[in-house]
This record gives sequence, structure tokens and C-alpha cells, in this order.
Amino acid sequence: MILSGTTIAHKRKEDLIKKVESLEEKPTLVIIQIGENQESTLYINQKIKFGKSIGVPVELYQLEENVTLEFIQKLISDFNHDDEVGGIIVQLPVPENLKQHQFEIIDSIKPSKDVDGLTSYNVKKLMSNEEGIVPATALGVSNLLKEANIKIASQNIVIVGRSLLVGRSLSQLLINQDATVTICHSKTKNLSEITKLADILITATGTPKLITKDFVHKDQVVIDVGITSTGELLEGDVDFEKVEGVVRAITPVPGGVGPMTVLSLFENLILK
Ligand code: NDP
Repeated sequence: MILSGTTIAHKRKEDLIKKVESLEEKPTLVIIQIGENQESTLYINQKIKFGKSIGVPVELYQLEENVTLEFIQKLISDFNHDDEVGGIIVQLPVPENLKQHQFEIIDSIKPSKDVDGLTSYNVKKLMSNEEGIVPATALGVSNLLKEANIKIASQNIVIVGRSLLVGRSLSQLLINQDATVTICHSKTKNLSEITKLADILITATGTPKLITKDFVHKDQVVIDVGITSTGELLEGDVDFEKVEGVVRAITPVPGGVGPMTVLSLFENLILK
């Protein structure tokens, strides 16, 4: 079975449009992009397009790579105090020269406007299983599983990838939903032995075709978060053609987790 994030996201989008229509004031989403990064621009364009399609204003602020920390924080502070702004995103990754200040920058965002769910406040809420804003990719994966009627509670879930943005956030969210979660990474020994133990295998590494049919089994659900652009193509972490026929269910790339992530970001903005 192919789990189409496009179809599921489309269905949830209809509900979101109705919700937006019922709002007197449509909250603006502000995206701050620092420096130039081709992949970030791709993601940002998808967000702008999605916002337009549901009637939500999205404003992009493009800052030079050599902008000062003070300037960024002042800009964020202005948006924190602007009632028309409902959500603020700093598109990651920030350029190399600002890497050491990445969390300071993110923590300048008021937690209630942190629709990426990455401020210390929201991360702590997720860690302690309290209500807060959950990072969009993690939320997208969890909602995709739920919409496809795939049980999460008590399942053995293996996640390959340990970034805060994806692997760690997702592990916390799924633990909060009573799954048993194992996280793997580039230093994991015998990766394929561990992935084969999973009821649900989730991979978020950015290494194309890492997961071959030797990493999976026939009753498994495979969720491919990875997106790598190789020339004209977008590739996932899974060798889709070889794995698809082996497992119980699998997400494609593109058209799997990607559409759910964009949708979840706007659900965070509108439904929070
Ligand atoms: P990072 O580079 O921050 O993290 C990648 C993780 O994968 C690291 O933990 C790394 O291990 C691990 N890893 C890399 N190669 C291997 C390997 N060969 N074996 C085992 N583990 C490995 O990336 P992100 O978490 O930000 O993103 C991961 C992928 O997900 C990317 O392709 C990104 O484009 C995609 N993505 C997709 C989204 C969507 O909506 N579909 C949203 C966000 C991201 P270590 O820590 O040891 O280095």
C-alpha cells in the first residue's frame, strides 16, 4: 500500500480552508530567510504557495548573510509585538557564520508565535508531554499515520536520524503517543538489524537509497522523511522501487511526508 501524503493533506486542507474562512482576522505568517540556500528557497516557495491557496498572508523577509544578531532579534521582537502576525519562522539552516547563535535567534520568537515548535519553551513542552506547538514534520508524520489508521501505541518504532528538527522531535511525539521508540544515526552499529525489528520504520537522514530491502520486513510500515535533490529529481532515503513490493505500507518521495509537513505548519498557525 502506498501512503499518499498528498491525498491526506488535501483532505485536511479542506477543513483548514473552512476554518480560515471563519476567521475575521487572518493571521500573517512571517518567514525570515537569512542568506541564500537553494533548498530553503524551495521549501519557502511551497509555504508561500500553500498560504495563498488557503487565504493566509505569508510575508518573506530576506536578510543578507552578514546581518547582525542584534538586527535579527530586533526584527523578531517587532513581529512578536505585531498583532497581525500569528506565526514567525526562521528558515533553517542559518548560514555558517550564525550557526553558534541559531538557538538564540529561535528563542527570540514568542512561544505562542513559534509555529515551527523549536523554541526552548515548546521543545520542553514536547519533552514533558504537555500541550505546546509541535514541529511540523513530526506532527505531519504522526497525522499521516493516524489518517491511514496505522496504530502508534505499543508499536516498536525505529527512527533513523537524530536531528532536533526531525528525529528527536518525532521520537518525543511518538513516545507521548505510547510507542516504543529506538533512534539510530550515522554511528549506529548493524543498522539493518535494528531497522528490521520495527513495526514502523521512519527514516530522516538525507542519504538517498540508504534503506534497501535488506533493512525491512513484510509487515512493516515505512515512512520516508528524507528529501535530497539530485539534479531534476527528489529522492528519499528509501530505495522505493525495491522496497515497495516487500513492505505492508510505504510513503513515496515526493508526495509522502512533504505535503503533510507544509499542512501541519499551517495547522499550527491556524489551530493553535
Ligand atoms: P540532519 O542532517 O540534521 O540529520 C540527519 C540525521 O541522519 C543525522 O542524525 C545523521 O546522523 C543521520 N544520518 C545521516 N546519514 C546516515 C546514515 N548513512 N546512516 C544512519 N544515519 C545517518 O537532517 P534533518 O534531520 O534536518 O533532515 C533529514 C532529512 O529529512 C533531509 O533529507 C531533509 O531534507 C528531510 N526533511 C524532510 C522534511 C519533509 O517535510 N519531508 C522536513 C525536514 C527535513 P549523525 O547525527 O550521526 O550525523
